[in-house]
Amino acid sequence: MTDLNSDIFKTIDSERSGTTSEEVVSQLREMIHRGELRPGDRLPPERDLARMIGVSRPTLRAGIRSLAAVGVLQSRQGAGTFIVKSDGPPSLDSSPLRLMASLHGFTSAEMFEARRSLEMSVAGLAAERATHDQMATMAEEITGMFASLDHPEQFLVHDMHFHQTVAAASGNRILTSLMNMVSTILFDVRSKTVKRARDLKESAEMHRHIYRAIRERNPEEARKAMREHLMLAQKAQEQEADNTARSNGADVPMQ
Ligand SMILES: [Zn+2]
Repeated sequence: MTDLNSDIFKTIDSERSGTTSEEVVSQLREMIHRGELRPGDRLPPERDLARMIGVSRPTLRAGIRSLAAVGVLQSRQGAGTFIVKSDGPPSLDSSPLRLMASLHGFTSAEMFEARRSLEMSVAGLAAERATHDQMATMAEEITGMFASLDHPEQFLVHDMHFHQTVAAASGNRILTSLMNMVSTILFDVRSKTVKRARDLKESAEMHRHIYRAIRERNPEEARKAMREHLMLAQKAQEQEADNTARSNGADVPMQ
């Protein structure tokens, strides 16, 4: 982590273009493109940065929020705001997609279809590219699933980790980021209904099927197994949501 030399932040010419949060975003983006800001760098404190760029603190904050939403910046409580540095795939925040879902009324069927397309692609690629370590992690998560058949919430955590590992094993960080963004939303919904899950054993078996196809380096089979798993998962989730709604008399999001 390096502290930054303050004169790389040029004051935005407010007469030229007004001092909007878009200006903050574009200035920070340019600095990243030019290599003046690098992964792991900490931004100066808000008060100083606002003065350097020549914008108000709320404007600066709005700009920072936009960049955090697309996974460029990360604010850590008490530590400051950093340029995201990660060994894994860059992560996209799910909130823009959530907002779109609310605005445009995305249906759960559309979300599942998007997830299915992405996950079938990554499963096929994982069968070609997964490393031994990644396969070992998949196997551990499956063991975890079988060990938590009676604890749906715990099961769901292993389930999520399994899918994230398959995605990482695809070696395509764009597909991985998109997949994580879509599935985070579905897992959030699922975490509210999973208590009512049935047939977790069958679900665990299906994950094992995906894992075996990947281990055998069989992309077609991996895609097919992933498809079957997600079709069933969709049905299960819709049933759980129905039951939950009936027993609560409340709306369940994204049915
Ligand atoms: Zn799963």
